[in-house]
Amino acid sequence: MTGNSYPETVNLAYNQAGIANLFAIGSPLEAQPTESGYWVAIRGTSVLLKGESGRLVLPEDELPDWQTSGCSPLWIGFWKQRPLRVLSIDADSEIRAPLVEEPFSTTSPRADVATISVCGLAQQMLLWEQRSRFCSSCGGKMVWYSASWARRCRTCGAKQFPVGMPCSIVLVRRGHQVLLIHKPEWIDGRYSIPSGFVDLGESLEECAVREVREETGIEIKNLRYVGSQNWPFPSSLMSGFVADYASGEIKIAADEIDDARWFPIDRLPTLPSKRSIARWMLERYCS
Ligand SMILES: [Zn+2]
Repeated sequence: MTGNSYPETVNLAYNQAGIANLFAIGSPLEAQPTESGYWVAIRGTSVLLKGESGRLVLPEDELPDWQTSGCSPLWIGFWKQRPLRVLSIDADSEIRAPLVEEPFSTTSPRADVATISVCGLAQQMLLWEQRSRFCSSCGGKMVWYSASWARRCRTCGAKQFPVGMPCSIVLVRRGHQVLLIHKPEWIDGRYSIPSGFVDLGESLEECAVREVREETGIEIKNLRYVGSQNWPFPSSLMSGFVADYASGEIKIAADEIDDARWFPIDRLPTLPSKRSIARWMLERYCS
């Protein structure tokens, strides 16, 4: 790993770089476009895409008359210079060709990175719109007040800003081994690296050290930030670190983890999606 730039420029899925030339964010303060355009149709943890010439793309123009549980489509900007709107449809809505369902977590993606990245962002913006309608201080109605999708309370003036929850994710090495964990809710046999949300009052580095200790009982040293990823599930900012083993024996946090092990880097188990920073770090720093 010598010779890498520090920190890395990480052009992973869901970060801005991959859609910069295709997507222009709109302002909620502007008049909304009225012409038809592209759609991001969210269905649970999947997105509905259109099969076209052997690949999946965003559907255009008219959509089927789906049940949307009172969720109005939200215009968020322009995709390939046409209006882009996002909506969430009910899980039992019928899906007909040429539309197909593409799970965000798929291990064999059929959509390109830019398409799935804008779908992730659209889902984050829809969630933000839904969760910021009322003031968390006084319960008053919130209104848009900035082009960056911030809202202000009409009653007390409190402001809220769209942000991802900060998380740290840590690749820990011991010689030619790497520390991997498995959580009960994950697919059997698929392992990843320790991660977790930053606590109030904690730095990203402190979170990294604590999460490894809490999940695995391992103490780390030589912690180094390597890059970050926007992770829209539902809305996190993953900060990636690499570290070396310092001390301790594996002792798992049984309420969160059901396995943790040192794996030889040439015999790794099934790993997370190639679109995740976890996978990027494992490929970048375990060779
Ligand atoms: Zn208020």
